[in-house]
Formats: sequence, structure tokens, C-alpha cells
Amino acid sequence: MTDQKHIHIISHTHWDREWYLPYEKHHVLLIKLMDRLLDTLEKDPEFKSFHLDGQTIILDDYLQVRPNRREKLEKYIREGRLHIGPWYILQDEFLTSSEANIRNLQYGMKDAIQWGGISKVGYFPDSFGNMGQGPQILSQAGINNAVFGRGVKPTGFNNMVSDAEQYESPYSEMLWRSPDGSSVLGILFANWYCNGNEVPVDEKQAKQYWEQHLSSLEKYAASPHRLMMNGCDHQPIQIDLPEAIETAKKLYPEISFTHSNFNEYVENLTASLPNDLKVIDGELRSQQTDGWGTLVNTASARVYIKQMNQLGQALLEKVAEPLATFAYLNGEEYNHHLLEYAWKTLMQNHPHDSICGCSVDEVHREMVTRFEKSKHVAEAVIDESLEALSNKIDTTVFEKWGEDALAFTVYNTTGWDRTGTVSITLDARRDYFSEGVKKQELKQFPLGERIVVDEAGTEYSVTVEDLGIAFDYDLPEEKFRQPYMARRVRLTFEAEQVPAMGYKTFALVQSSSSQKQDSLIPGENQFENDFLHVNINENGSLTVTNKVNGRTFEELGVYEDTGDIGNEYMYKQSHDQKTLTTKDVIANVKVVEDTAYQAAYEITHEWEIPKSASELLEQEQKELVGFKGRKSGRSEENIPFKITTIVTLEKNSKGINVEASFNNQAKDHRLRALFPTAIQTDVHHVDSIFEVATRSNQPSEEWTNPDNSQHQQAFVDVHNEEDGLTVANLGLNEYEVLRDGRNTIAITLLRSVGELGDWGHFPTPEAQCLGEHTVSLRIYPHAGEGDATKAYQDAYQFQVPWTVKQTGIHDGELPAAKSFLEWNAPNLAFSSLKVSGQTGDVLTRWFNMTNENNSLLVRTLNGTSSAYKSNVIEEKQETLQSNESSKVQMPVKPYEIVTIGFEK
Ligand SMILES: [Zn+2]
Repeated sequence: MTDQKHIHIISHTHWDREWYLPYEKHHVLLIKLMDRLLDTLEKDPEFKSFHLDGQTIILDDYLQVRPNRREKLEKYIREGRLHIGPWYILQDEFLTSSEANIRNLQYGMKDAIQWGGISKVGYFPDSFGNMGQGPQILSQAGINNAVFGRGVKPTGFNNMVSDAEQYESPYSEMLWRSPDGSSVLGILFANWYCNGNEVPVDEKQAKQYWEQHLSSLEKYAASPHRLMMNGCDHQPIQIDLPEAIETAKKLYPEISFTHSNFNEYVENLTASLPNDLKVIDGELRSQQTDGWGTLVNTASARVYIKQMNQLGQALLEKVAEPLATFAYLNGEEYNHHLLEYAWKTLMQNHPHDSICGCSVDEVHREMVTRFEKSKHVAEAVIDESLEALSNKIDTTVFEKWGEDALAFTVYNTTGWDRTGTVSITLDARRDYFSEGVKKQELKQFPLGERIVVDEAGTEYSVTVEDLGIAFDYDLPEEKFRQPYMARRVRLTFEAEQVPAMGYKTFALVQSSSSQKQDSLIPGENQFENDFLHVNINENGSLTVTNKVNGRTFEELGVYEDTGDIGNEYMYKQSHDQKTLTTKDVIANVKVVEDTAYQAAYEITHEWEIPKSASELLEQEQKELVGFKGRKSGRSEENIPFKITTIVTLEKNSKGINVEASFNNQAKDHRLRALFPTAIQTDVHHVDSIFEVATRSNQPSEEWTNPDNSQHQQAFVDVHNEEDGLTVANLGLNEYEVLRDGRNTIAITLLRSVGELGDWGHFPTPEAQCLGEHTVSLRIYPHAGEGDATKAYQDAYQFQVPWTVKQTGIHDGELPAAKSFLEWNAPNLAFSSLKVSGQTGDVLTRWFNMTNENNSLLVRTLNGTSSAYKSNVIEEKQETLQSNESSKVQMPVKPYEIVTIGFEK
């Protein structure tokens, strides 16, 4: 090995599709950039190559306006002059689901291969921190490196190397390792991804430029191969780069300068690395910093966006894909094209400046439309799958309850058996327009006394609500639309033990026996079932006793409101440090539901909070006073802030559902719900990407930010050996475990700020999130360490809506209840069931929630033949042998992500 220095200059642009400008404004600039790039590649053979920012969507965005440039793009991709992929978009890893991170890679790699080449670089240039399972996901996809800009020292808020004494790695190159032990070469943009921007051609200017840049490059490099990124955010291409390189060669003949690309750079770098690279483990969340530059509070900017995303993801990956797979296993086509379209539409909301809520208002308005579009396609796929499946289910067993039995099927598309309250709207009678509508008869159609039964005849208490008559229609595939009038009822009951990844059929039937009059309410402001006792206190907080271990949690669900003078990226409490809580607010409590299967209370807080920050804030924003140095307090003027909370306990549930609604008219503040655990422990556990991550309750010594908010997906959990409390959520991605001596879990419900932040003043009035909001949480006390993964399962189920479908009484090849996927492994979390677009095989995925070895037992799916171990990009790895009862058993390593394929 020689000591000769090699400078690899890679031309690129970092393309935020939308950010401080709306999508189309950035789009227009992209078209110009791409025109110029293609022109340069054509005219100048010395302009060797360009890296297209690791995201294939740029190509689609260009073709949207320049559809006739496809061949040109293809040519340069095949020639290795345009480097594309592996991602579809540059996502925020922590604010998109585990499966969304995988789909992003699957669709990105598939598109790149179709275009003619794939840049196998784990590219995370601008991610606001990196997921701990990044190395495992990349390794499985055949990518052995990751390039990132944040998460480990030594980068600070301005993305420049800081002078902190202790670095997590002495070099910008390191081994980044996932908790399962997989590792990749990690390359940190220690001087950011603009460190080779605008290289001068002129000798005098070049001399000055290189003196400075060569010394910065020196600082952290572990190898003589040095990386210079020629480009920056939305940077137009430097077409005279070849000349600039010639100048550099002339000035420094002892150094080698090349117009390089990542493949070449990584190959050279790998061959020249020292043996003492440091290993960096797991999540890269900038924990070894002062805590002011983490950008973590993007997790609570525009909460409504996160809620829509949670629902959109759940509908696609946890409902539409499994249902479409059930239908596929029973002879139906799988709608790959529609699901890809829905996923891509959803993923257009997943870039870091989009899902993070840190853009201008126009951007987030467009996102709302995309969420709806993706959801509508998902719903169409769901409806089609339900129609196909329901027609195949044999429901004749319900004939014995009479001709007017109304059969319906409840689908559980989670990985575990499920019990819980479901609601369904049923048509008791339909009159099609084509056959004549008898309105009076419909109106007077007798519903009688009804009860729900399952196929075994078990009776369930039910609430039936008469919805009167309603208009609706069918859209048959081979006929004109069929409108009708229906007599409609809504029924609600607790469905018990619906099989995992399956369904159970019930019917609403006439019954002479009266329903059980049981109640879960033993006294005033209380409810109780076999597992929990809950008392509602005068201030509206809950005292919850876990009857299994006798442990009581006090004051759960107090609301806290503080001023926020930060921006979309970071929370900064108002200078007056004024913190309000509902601890001393008397709440109004009333029963709103009291049935045999569930009870609910409505808790109302008529509260008052400051209307905004003090007037100083606007001035500080306009004058570009950094948020850390702001002195604004909260306004002296209070406005009413009413919070209506519905707390619900189901008969067979070990958790309590909490739904809070409020009309926010206050600005510049943050609202949280507090759950004191009073559990002694130094760490907590939190749902992240294919990982239940263990994080420290105390930040590092250099952390000076009084706030220690962090990212979560489905839940956060505090437990020790005997005792635990899990708080699950729907689309509330920010929490903090408070350093208050009680290890209180704080969940952010709303954050209202008036500006974007970052490199200038960009007002964002809509980030104040004025208007109606509803947020959902679930409190789950448990028996500590040995019981924790049960709590996590419950939290994963909470993420997934039930699916229900009315069906007629008919024959069918499917039984009245069934599981399509039978598996067993106590500490694995189920993640995905879908069909591969490449092979037509059925792919299933789990991950190990613990650091212990596990064993997964799965029955070969009906309608498939042999099973194999796959990777995350759906490639077959090894055949799995099944035993005589058609079951496959495989060992699962700690924290492993396991994908099993079933050949169709
Ligand atoms: Zn970016």
C-alpha cells in the first residue's frame, strides 16, 4: 500500500423534493438541473459521472415533464455515468414504519435494475439519525456499506465538525453494527456532503480552496482515499468540474484526483482501511452531543401528518396486503400494480423533509392529498379482497337461526389471535332500484330482539343501533351500477379469539333470551375487569391497579402544556419556563357507555392556556435570532382550552384505551400526556425499526438540552423485573422519559410552532395546528421483564384496525373461521404477509424483539409447496425442510429479521 493521497470527487446534488419551497417549485429546478446534466454527459466525455442522490424517484419526477428523455437516461445509466438507487426516496428512518423502510428499498432496487444499474450504497446523506437495524437490512440486501451525515459525533447542528473532546469514532470511517451482529462499513460525511462543492478552475482561487479543503479532509480520514462531494442541497451541476480537476492535478502533482463514483471510492477505501476501525453499535441518534442539533422534535411537528401516515401504513401493510394474500391463496389475482402505486404514493410523503413536518405549509397540504390517494387505493384493494373471500366462506351453519340471520365476518390481520370490540354496519334488508324500492316497508322492517352468535352458537352481548334507511350502491365488474335503499343497523360487540391472520364469522340473529345485564362499572368513577381496576380522580387522572400483581399506578394521564419558541425541527421551552398541568384542574366525569362488554367515561377539562408566545417571538424570528438564544415568554392572555377524553375498558382487555379530543386555538406551545411509572430502572424500551430498542433514561454528560425527547413507533415501555407500564399510540412519534425521579413517560400530543427553522426565516402558520384534533393512546400495565413482549404484541395489535364484512348465507370452500398463517414463537413480532412481485411466492416476515435465541415454527401455507429462508429483498437464500405435519422450524438469532418464502 502506498501513502499516495487519492481525492475522489463525486458529482451529485442532494434533492429534497419539497422543503422550503413547494414540490413544484423544486420540481421546476430539478427539470433544469437534469436537462443540463444530460446535455453535459452528451457533450463532455470528461464529465465522467453523476450520483443521483440515492433515490430513483428523481427519474420519475423528470419524466413527468420530459417523457421523451427516457432513452437518454437509460443510456447513461447503462454506461455507468448516472448512478441511481438503491432507495425509492430518501426517507426519515424513524418516522416511517419498519415495512415502509423495506418497501422503499424493494421498490427502489427493482426500479434501478429496470433502469439498467444500481448503486449499491446504503445512502442516508441527510437522515435525522439512523435506525439501529440499518446494517442488518442493508447486509440482507447485499449492500455492505452505509454513508450518512448525522447521528454520531463529530457532526454538529451546522453539519460541521465540532471540537468536542471525545469522538465516538476517531475516523470518519467505522464499522456500524446492528444488534443482531451484522455490520457494514460506515462512512460519515464528517465535513458534510457539500465538502467538494464549487471547485475553482482558476489557479489562484484553486490554490486557496485546496489548501483549506485538503486540511479538513485530513482530519478524520482513516485511509489515503478521501471523499469530496461536489454538490449540495439542490445544487446545480458544476459543468466545468473536469477543468477544475485538471487545475488541481497541476497544482498538486503528488496527489491523485479523480472524478469518481461511490462504487470506485468504496472499493478503494475498503482495500486501504486500517485494522483499528471503531465499531459503532445500533441506533445513531446524536446521543453523544449537547442535544440541541438532533432535529428530534420533527417527531412532533404537525402531528396530524404522522397520524395520517400511521393509518396509511397500517392499511397497506397490515390490512390490504394480508387480505390480498388470503385471496391470492384462494385463487384470486394479487394486485401488485395497485399496491405498488399505493405504496409509492404513500412513500412520496416519506422523505425526511416531508414526513418530518419541517417544510412550508404548501408541502404539507399536498401531503394530505397524497395520504388520501394512497388510502383510497388501499381501501379498494381491501374491498375487492373481502368481496372475493366472503363469497367463499361457508355460512350455512347460521341457517338454523332463521332466514333473517345477518352473517358477517370479522378479519384479524394481525399476527396474533385477537379479542376486542368491533363495530359493523349491516343491511337488514335491501331494495334495489331495478326491482323497486318499497320505502314504507323498509322503514317498518321489523328488527326484533337480536343477539350475536358465532358458528359454535356462543352468544355475545351486542349493542344494536337502528340507522334507519340509507342509500347505497354496488359496482359490479360486468354490469352497470346498482343503486339500492337499505334498512341499516350498526352493531357493536366484543369479538373473542379471532384467529391470527384469519377470520371468524358471526351472525346477528333473532333471540328470545334477554341479554346479560353485566356491567364493568362497580361504583362511581370506576371501572374494572378481571385484569384491571381503574379509578378516575377528581382532576381526571387515572389510578390503575394491575390485579395480576397488585401494583397500582397513580395520576396517569395528567396533561402538561408548555410554551414552545423553537421551530419545526426543535422544541425550545419559552424563556419564562412556565409549565401548566391539569393536576389542579377539576374535571367533569360522566359515564358514556355501560354494557356487558365495555365501559367508557368522558372526562372533560375546561382548561385555560396562554394564547401564544409573547410578542417578542415574532421579532426574534424575523431577526433570525437562533432558537437557543431566544428570550420570548408566553403571552399574559389566556384562552379556553377544552380537552375531552374518552377512556374505555373492554371486558377481556388488559389495556385501557384513551382518546383525547381538543380544538386548539393556542399558538407556540406543546401539549403532552404524562404517565408516571414510579418504576426504578435506568433504561426504557421503545418500538423502533424492526427493533425494540433499549435506551438510557439519562442522556450523556455533554447533553445540555433540558428536553430529552426521542422517537417512537408503536410504544414506549418502562419496566423492571416485577413491574411494567407500556404506553402505545397511534401516530404519536415523540415521547420523553422524564428525569423526575418517577420515570414518567410523557407523550407529545400536539406541538404548535410558527416557523420552519434551519437556514432562514420561513413562516409556517399552519404548523400551529389550529383546529380539531383527536389522539389515541393505550395504557397497558404488565408484570415486568417476563411479561414485556406480551405488552408489545398488544401495542402492535393496537396499530391495526379490524376489518369487517357482511356476507350472505351461502356454501363455500372456506370454513366459518380460519387462520391462514399458523406460527409460534413467543418473542417474535409479526411484521408482514405479502406476495412477491418477482416470483409470485408468498413472503412472511418477523423480527426477534429480544436479545435471546428463539425458534420459529410455521405451518406451510395452504396452496403453497416448499418453504425457504429469504432476505428482505425477497431473494431465496436456503430451502427449509418441513416435518410430517407440514411445519417448518427455524432458529432465530437475537434481534434477527426473518423472512420466509412459500413457493406457489
Ligand atoms: Zn435533505
